[in-house]
Amino acid sequence: MPAFDLVAPGTSDEAIAELRASDPGEVAVVAGGTDLLFDLDDGRITPRKVVSLRRLPWRTLDWNGPTLTVGSTLPLRELENDPELRRRIPGLYAAVRAVGSVALRHQATLGGNLGRSAPASDLVPMLLALDAEVDLVGPKGERRLSVDRFVIGSRRTALAAGELIRSVRIPEARPSAYLLQRVRPFHDISHMAVAVAFSPTDARWRVAVAGFPPRPLRFPEAEEALGGSTPGAADIARAAEALATRAPIVADKRASEEYRRQLVRPLLARAIAATRIGDR
Ligand SMILES: Cc1cc2nc3c(=O)[nH]c(=O)nc-3n(C[C@H](O)[C@H](O)[C@H](O)COP(=O)(O)OP(=O)(O)OC[C@H]3O[C@@H](n4cnc5c(N)ncnc54)[C@H](O)[C@@H]3O)c2cc1C
Repeated sequence: MPAFDLVAPGTSDEAIAELRASDPGEVAVVAGGTDLLFDLDDGRITPRKVVSLRRLPWRTLDWNGPTLTVGSTLPLRELENDPELRRRIPGLYAAVRAVGSVALRHQATLGGNLGRSAPASDLVPMLLALDAEVDLVGPKGERRLSVDRFVIGSRRTALAAGELIRSVRIPEARPSAYLLQRVRPFHDISHMAVAVAFSPTDARWRVAVAGFPPRPLRFPEAEEALGGSTPGAADIARAAEALATRAPIVADKRASEEYRRQLVRPLLARAIAATRIGDR
């Protein structure tokens, strides 16, 4: 691995200044490092400078009524251990616990998961079903984007040069569930995953699927088929049929398209059954 300078600024202004001081191709950002170290190790990136976010005051978690705001550098293990999360947003709790091992989650962060933007991310589909937003800071100031607009594809996000994810905002705690299929827990990423959430505000479901390229996505046709708070067996079957036959599911080296289309039906049905509306 080529040598690089490691800097750890203490404020966001200093971090942005460090990023601006280098050409974009010569500087990298690291939070927990669980993804970035592989990029460095295999030579995918060869920065001269790496900016660590570990000293920034972004290791935060705040509930404000139904809204949860998670600082981008909070280790996933701390999010998982929040006493409210499991009860109030069970789908996000399940998605966080699906990420690697406990040891990995002590390092890995929510900001890093979004920054990596992997097709099989466990967190992005759940954030989509929760209508989550990212708060960004950069040389031109602050802006807020929906996760849906932020995530573009594998390793592709809407981050501009010099911009950082400061926090992730989940506007409303929702009854929710996250289910995935993979071969070996702790080692493998998902072949197929389904995230569902029910919004008490508009009494509509959100359904997101993930595991295949280019990125996790919402599937409104399945959401409409589910209807209101208590979908019947026929509604769930219609939603599952829409997903299995019309969602843009594709094959990659990890699983065939046919296998994924088979998997998505039971995953959706079980996720809806696991969502306890009224238990918030
Ligand atoms: C063994 C192993 C198992 C894994 N299993 C899973 C799994 O089951 N599910 C899953 O979803 N992921 C998994 N991952 C991937 C990884 O752990 C997660 O994506 C993790 O959340 C990344 O967080 P991090 O803080 O380590 O990111 P880093 O490695 O520090 O950064 C990842 C990317 O995001 C950028 N970045 C980080 N923070 C910010 C920020 N605040 N602003 C802007 N850009 C930023 C970095 O520049 C880099 O490009 C696994 C990884 C390993 C090594």
